[in-house]
Amino acid sequence: MNFDLTVEQEALRKRAREFAVREVLPVAASYDEAEMMPMEVIKKAWKAGLTNLGIPKEYGGQGYGLIESVIVVEEIAAACPGIATSIFDNDLGSAPVIIGGNKEQKERVLRDITENFKLIAFATSEPGMGSDVAGMQCRAEPDGDGFVLNGTKYWITNAGYSDYISIFATVDPEKKHRGIAGFIVPTDLEGVSTGQHIPKLGQRASNTCSVVLKDVRIPKENVLAKPGRGFVVAMQTFQKTRPAVAAFAIGCARSAMEYSIDYALKRKTFGRPISNYQAIQFKIANMYKDIEAAKLLTYKAAWEGDQGRDSNLASSIAKAFSSDVAMQVTTEAIQIFGGYGYVRTFPVEKLFRDAKLLQIYEGTSEVQRIVISKFLLKQYEHAMPNLFELPREEISIEEKEGESAPKVLQTSQELGGKYKCQVCGFVYDPVKGDPDGGIAPGTAFAEIPDDWHCPVCGATKDQFSKI
Ligand code: FE
Repeated sequence: MNFDLTVEQEALRKRAREFAVREVLPVAASYDEAEMMPMEVIKKAWKAGLTNLGIPKEYGGQGYGLIESVIVVEEIAAACPGIATSIFDNDLGSAPVIIGGNKEQKERVLRDITENFKLIAFATSEPGMGSDVAGMQCRAEPDGDGFVLNGTKYWITNAGYSDYISIFATVDPEKKHRGIAGFIVPTDLEGVSTGQHIPKLGQRASNTCSVVLKDVRIPKENVLAKPGRGFVVAMQTFQKTRPAVAAFAIGCARSAMEYSIDYALKRKTFGRPISNYQAIQFKIANMYKDIEAAKLLTYKAAWEGDQGRDSNLASSIAKAFSSDVAMQVTTEAIQIFGGYGYVRTFPVEKLFRDAKLLQIYEGTSEVQRIVISKFLLKQYEHAMPNLFELPREEISIEEKEGESAPKVLQTSQELGGKYKCQVCGFVYDPVKGDPDGGIAPGTAFAEIPDDWHCPVCGATKDQFSKI
């Protein structure tokens, strides 16, 4: 096991951090207040080689693995999660083309994006559904060798400024995931229009709007994934992008922690800096330990993805954990700042607003927990025997020093074995019997009267199983 980054990865972090501090941080508050799409910053990032991280080099992208992507995203998000969302939405939008596109589509679309500074958005969500991807209603009617799209997509990041959108629609909502197909939709196609920018609580520097599709004819060459395959492409996209969302959270939380430390060292109360008080020390200690844990989970998820493994579970854990950490840390940061945390002259108020979205977009925290609990209930391999079959043996007389052991004439086995209450876990041992319940030592379970009850929980005899 090795937790070190390579020399190249460290250099990449340094380069991304310098860009974040120089180009993103100074304008973060202004873009947030203006609720403006940071096109100038995105263009600078594109020129600096810090966009299109996951697009392969052969199509003009950075060709980074998930670890490298996570490193870059964390640094930019530390300066502004909203601007980071705008910059890295191209990686979300282009992922379906990388995953599901053919050679010609990749050459045509990805190259246009990387070489000509084009933006590509991603659209699964609709006014009536988000994380429930299989529940989409937007229709794709087969038409010759292409499709005609009708419907509305909602919450689409960068949609108002995008040149392309990876759009998912269904041939039949009744078919659920089996009906979902994917399309590359140039936004200048007839019938494609975008709604007004949706005003948000946080991440205001990212453009979010609806996309209305009215009889949009998609030629064969822009069909990305056939019905059924589209759902798989969308899910694989999330698997690839969730570690990056977790990295947004790490960057956001890290800055909130750093500003909290700065403030705690400077701000005085009752004659000394608030950093002298354990209440504050514990808060910042918790911040750092949680951020470190989030980071390990996120880098593990990214590493698994880079190894070509199924990183679905790790990505969900990383995304859920890290976004909760970002919310927790930014909330505590405001508390440390007191009244100054609640006002817009310091940056923690913005980070708090920005953090909330991390628990919602790209699969809510609840959806991530559905993924995790499904795994636990259906696939997780237990190390211990089943709870209701746990073995129980008596320790030897020597070990029970000072106690007089019951006189054992026959073993439990010879007396028909032990039985376990399936309600409370109490074990009936025939050697001991249940003297309080009128069952003499040496009574086999089968010989106990039917009206006997579990001495601990009162369960009936038929609720016991042999162990
Ligand atoms: Fe019981």
